[in-house]
Amino acid sequence: ERERERDMGGDKMPHAVCIPFPAQGHVNPMLKLAKLLHYRGFHITFVNTEYNHQRLLRSRGTNAVHGLPDFQFETIPDGLPPSEADSTQDIPSLSESTSKNCVVPFHNLLSKLNDMSSSSSSSDVPPVTCIVSDGFMSFTLKAAQEFGVPEILFWTPSACGFLAYTHYKHLVERGLVPLKDASCLTNGYLETTIDWIPGMNNIRLKDLPSFIRTTDPNDIMLNLFIHESEAAFKASAIVLNTFDVLERAAVDSLSSNLPPIYTIGPLHLILNQISDHRLKSIDTNFWKEQPECIDWLDSQQPNSVVYVNFGSITVMTAQQLTEFAWGLANSEKNFLWVIRPDIVSGDTAILPSEFVAETKNRGVLASWCPQEQVLNHPAIGGFLTHSGWNSTIESVSGGVPMICWPFFAEQHTNCWYSCGEWGIGLEIDSDVKREEVEKLVRELMEGEKGKEMKRNAMEWKKKAEEAVEAGGSSSLNLDKLFSQVLPPNS
Ligand code: UDP
Repeated sequence: ERERERDMGGDKMPHAVCIPFPAQGHVNPMLKLAKLLHYRGFHITFVNTEYNHQRLLRSRGTNAVHGLPDFQFETIPDGLPPSEADSTQDIPSLSESTSKNCVVPFHNLLSKLNDMSSSSSSSDVPPVTCIVSDGFMSFTLKAAQEFGVPEILFWTPSACGFLAYTHYKHLVERGLVPLKDASCLTNGYLETTIDWIPGMNNIRLKDLPSFIRTTDPNDIMLNLFIHESEAAFKASAIVLNTFDVLERAAVDSLSSNLPPIYTIGPLHLILNQISDHRLKSIDTNFWKEQPECIDWLDSQQPNSVVYVNFGSITVMTAQQLTEFAWGLANSEKNFLWVIRPDIVSGDTAILPSEFVAETKNRGVLASWCPQEQVLNHPAIGGFLTHSGWNSTIESVSGGVPMICWPFFAEQHTNCWYSCGEWGIGLEIDSDVKREEVEKLVRELMEGEKGKEMKRNAMEWKKKAEEAVEAGGSSSLNLDKLFSQVLPPNS
C-alpha cells in the first residue's frame, strides 16, 4: 500500500486543473486521473459543465461531500442553449459548442483560481501549476500557454483509436474521405484496406473511427478530430488509459511523432491500490447506480451470467432492442441487462411483456450499474458491449470476453482489435437479428471459440495487473508523468 505522498515541506501544493470532455466516458477516466494526482499531493480543481454538475447532483444527492478540502469542483457553461440541454447526448452539437464557447469561461476560471490563491483570506488554494485536459478539448492549450503552465492532454480512447484519429488528415489528403457519395456506405467501399498507417496492419475503412462515414467535407466531427489531433502536438505530455503490451504497435507509432506519451492504464486498477475512503466516495455517475445487481450476481454460478450494457451514449431502435431481448431469451442464459431509460432514440425503452415474463427468473434489468464491480464479479461469463474504450479496458481487466456491437466513434476500431489482435471478441452485425444474438451468446458462454476467448481474456487480465504493479510499465510511466508535471521547485 502506497503512502499518500503529501509532504511538500511547507511549500504550496501543486495545483492541477482537470477538465474532461462533458460525456460520461470522458468524465469517469478523468476523475480517476484526478484522484491519482490528488493522492500524490496535488490540489485538484475538477471542472464540469453546469449541466452535468446538475445531473450529478440529481443522481447522487451531492457529489461534493467527501471531506477533502483540496479536491474541489467548479463549473463552466457548455455553451448550449437551455432548450437544447438534452442534446448533451448529441455529441456533434456538444463538441462544436464546447470547442467554441468554453474558451473564455475556462480562462476566467483559471484567473479566478489564481486570484483566490493570491488573496490572503483564501490562501488554501494554491496557484494553478498545470492543466490536465481532455484531448478533445484542445482550446485549453491556449490558456495553458497564457498562464505559463504545462498541459497534459488525456486522450480517453484506446491508443489504436487515437492513432486512427491522427491519420484522419491523411485519409482526406489521399482522397479516401469524405466518401464520394452515400452509396459508398453500402457498396463495399468501406471494406477498402489501409496498409499505410504504421502500427495498424491492414485495417479496413469500416474499422476506423466512424466519423469518416460522411460525404460532407465540412462535417463537424471529421474536422474537429483533424483539428484536435493536430493540437496534440502542442501538449507537454499525452496520457492514455491503456498498457503497453496491449497496444504496443499503436503506442510506438504514436510515440514516434507526438510529445511524450504516458500509458498509465488500466487507471481503475492503479486506483484500486489506494485505500482512501474519501477519494473512493467521489463518483461521477450521471445516472443513479443500482448496486442491488451485485446481490443478485452473488447468488449466481461462476461464469454463468451474460452482462449486457451499451454505455452512456449508444441509442438503438425499438426493433433492435426487441431483437436483443429475444436473442437473450432464446440463448437460455442468465443475464444482467442495463438499459438506460433513453436508449431507444426518441422513445421510452419498452421490452415485450412476454420477454419479461419468460425471463423473470433468470434475467435482471437495471438502468445503471457499478460496472467495474460487475465486470470483476466471478458470476460474469461474458459481456455484450458497444466496445466503448472504458468498457473494453474494464472487460480486459476483469478477464471477460465480449460480443461487440460497436455504435460509433472509435468503438469500431476497439471491436476490430478485440476480435482480431486480442482474441477476446466476437462481432455482431450492426443490423442485429435475434438468431445471431442467440448463436453468439451461446458461442461466448459455452462454445469452443468462447472458451478460447476466455483463456485469452484471462491472459490479458494478468498482463493488465502486471502493468500496474510496482515496476510495471504503467506504474513506472505514472511516476515519470508526475515528475514531468510537478513544478520544478517542488
Ligand atoms: N458505466 C457504469 N455503469 C453502467 C454503464 C456504464 O458505471 O451501467 C461506466 C463504465 O464503467 C465506463 C463508462 O460508464 O466507465 C462508459 O464508458 P465507455 O467508454 O465504455 O462508453 P461511452 O459511454 O463513452 O459510450
